[in-house]
Amino acid sequence: MTISAYAATSSETPLEPFTFEHRELRNNDVAMEVLYCGVCHSDLHMARNDWGMTSYPLVPGHEIIGRVTAIGSDVTKYKIGDSVAVGCMVDSCQNCDQCHAGNEQYCRHEMTATYNSPDRQDGQITRGGYAKQLIAREEFVLRVPDGLDLSRAAPLLCAGITTYSPLRNWNVRQGTRVGIIGMGGLGHMAIKLAIGMGAEVTVISRSKRKEADALRLGAHKVLISTDESSMQAAANSFDLIIDTVPYTHNLDPYTPLLDIDGSLVMVGQIGPMEAQSSVPLIMGRRRVAGSLIGGIPETQEMLEFCAEKNILPDCEMIRMDQINEAFERLEKGDVHYRFVIDMASFNS
Ligand code: NAP
Ligand code: ZN
Repeated sequence: MTISAYAATSSETPLEPFTFEHRELRNNDVAMEVLYCGVCHSDLHMARNDWGMTSYPLVPGHEIIGRVTAIGSDVTKYKIGDSVAVGCMVDSCQNCDQCHAGNEQYCRHEMTATYNSPDRQDGQITRGGYAKQLIAREEFVLRVPDGLDLSRAAPLLCAGITTYSPLRNWNVRQGTRVGIIGMGGLGHMAIKLAIGMGAEVTVISRSKRKEADALRLGAHKVLISTDESSMQAAANSFDLIIDTVPYTHNLDPYTPLLDIDGSLVMVGQIGPMEAQSSVPLIMGRRRVAGSLIGGIPETQEMLEFCAEKNILPDCEMIRMDQINEAFERLEKGDVHYRFVIDMASFNS
């Protein structure tokens, strides 16, 4: 099958139209027409080879909403015409303790990412949702619950689950004091999800620029991280902080904001961090932790949770050919609050 897509061909060049041959459908495969694909900051990191592991040409995209166009002979969960979704993974070993526990993202034999990963059977590099079609094995395809607006649901598949998972795993409930550092794609989802769980939510942003939006999205307070006296006044006031900042940064201004036994969970910067003082950790049994996306059962649960609570991202719809402009704006933090590519705009 020939698939039309957009690809990065090097770390310095803009994304451009690209076609590739996809494998034939396997017995457990679901083929879908991609309807919408969200634009994650990870797509930008990968296109620019920020993590030193990109193989070109790279077709990014791991926030995918699609409609089933064909199924393999063993597929039982989906039929042609179903609304489905794919997130950041398309395979894992399915055999280890983590896969059995529904934590496929922590597969002992490494998950297969939706793009830039070797396929477990034929070694071909996977390609993501900046494309007209996508094929994934049934176990990694999610059902889109009735009532969830397809045009806005795509960002739930990465920004949504990446913040839902730590909120759930740190037992956020009524009254939990949650701080969210960085109000971008992940951060704005974290606000909505934490509010949906009953938390008391504070956005920790670099300037007052996003304050009105943060309050509109349901945050109770906004703390400006560059305002030292406000930061000092906010010491010991959080049970959990989710850090979505995409670049290397210093955690020392943030760890004292945690109450005793509080945790700061890193989901943003994947890579080296600046040296950090152990004093706030030792003096308050505070923890710094990390979290990677979420497992398949948890992702399905998150989609149901969002459908039930009517939680959807704030999306800025773009055409496929606007992707390079979108990347530039993402780099500047100028997104309100997730770009979503309308694939109907891509007439290949
Ligand atoms: P985004 O939309 O660009 O949002 C990041 C936000 O961080 C910005 O809106 C900004 O918020 C703040 N920020 C940006 N630069 C900063 C800086 N130098 N210092 C302090 N704050 C800064 O990005 P995203 O799509 O949410 O992704 C965030 C990160 O998560 C990326 O690195 C991505 O690769 C990573 N990620 C991780 C996982 C995982 O599984 N752990 C999954 C998906 C993505 P303010 O303007 O409010 O300060
Ligand atoms: Zn992502």
